[in-house]
Amino acid sequence: MKEKEEIRILYMDDDPGLGRLFQKKLSQMGEIVVAGNGQEGLSRYREEKYDVLVIDYQMPGLDGLQVLRKLVDGGSVPPVIMLTGAGNEETAVEAMKMGATDYIVKDIDGKYFQLLPLVMNEAIKRFRFAEEKKRMQKELERYANELERSNKELEQFAYVVSHDLKEPLHTIRGFAKFLEESYQDKLDEQGNEFMGYIIDGTSRMERLISGLLDYSRVTFKNSDPEPVNCNELVEQVIRDLKATIDLRNAKVTFDPLPTITGKERLLLRVFQNLIDNGLKYCRNELPKVHISAEEDGKMWRFSIKDNGIGINPKHAERIFFIFQRLHNRNEFSGDGLGLAICRKIIENHKGKIWVESNQGEGSTFYFTIPKGE
Ligand code: ADP
Repeated sequence: MKEKEEIRILYMDDDPGLGRLFQKKLSQMGEIVVAGNGQEGLSRYREEKYDVLVIDYQMPGLDGLQVLRKLVDGGSVPPVIMLTGAGNEETAVEAMKMGATDYIVKDIDGKYFQLLPLVMNEAIKRFRFAEEKKRMQKELERYANELERSNKELEQFAYVVSHDLKEPLHTIRGFAKFLEESYQDKLDEQGNEFMGYIIDGTSRMERLISGLLDYSRVTFKNSDPEPVNCNELVEQVIRDLKATIDLRNAKVTFDPLPTITGKERLLLRVFQNLIDNGLKYCRNELPKVHISAEEDGKMWRFSIKDNGIGINPKHAERIFFIFQRLHNRNEFSGDGLGLAICRKIIENHKGKIWVESNQGEGSTFYFTIPKGE
């Protein structure tokens, strides 16, 4: 709280002497309004705004707790300090449960008056801090909802666009193929060459559109997480890649891996893409990929390490975006979708994915997945 800030205090006590004393002793704190009973206190409260309320528990008519109940039922309340009698801890506990910020025991020699400014300032500080926190949380929630909404919209857009584009593209490719087959002799060499380009281009576009459709469909939605044994996933990937592994004289090894919670079908794709890339982006005579996992607080951190061509660190983020490639297709085949799909799957599982690498020194891809006990 800023120094010398004027605050407004509403004091409720049926003892007029104490009311006057309160006003006199604490006048330096700000403006003090005294109410002689609970009912009057409530009407004063409704008339104006206060920074803090000090309520005596023992009042005829409505007692302190009843006043507090009415205040709380009426909505958000400023900080309330309950004045209780000595040996009346139960009332104090009750008051705190109902939403009072603090309580102070009223002793006969009036020492509590000395404590009150400190307790009030502290209560106001705590209250403002809590209000600010609430405001920030709401703001954060708003941003998160907005982000989710725009992500969904984007997903929907990608789905619709890719779905609708497929149809006309099919027609173009079909007729181009027909022209190539039926009019081959009528076209000269250059005409046939151009026809080849059209067919290649449309096939590639079809692949990209299918990829985009695939990307927009990769989602966790409408499915419950299940236990996934990562050893089995990696074994399956190794079986699926056997032909490539044999052909490239490669080695894929792994440490004992944990069972995690997630969507098996999707996590399989992550291992598939990362292991496949490890073998693909390698000019080494003996490509090697090693998979391991370590505990990292509440997460499992997996690593997929290769001895391939490596990645310039300046591209470390870019490669996780859709259609981003660092290589020409003549050099290494691919459409730049694998890592974007991995990122989407891992983020859907509330994890993170990144790469650590230097050009020519191999790469290690990491991803985390919550342990999810
Ligand atoms: P694709 O392999 O189809 O091109 P990815 O999204 O899987 O698509 O990869 C994006 C780009 O990241 C690749 O084109 C390649 O340049 C780079 N990359 C991915 N994995 C590796 C790796 N293990 N080593 C070196 N470069 C890699």
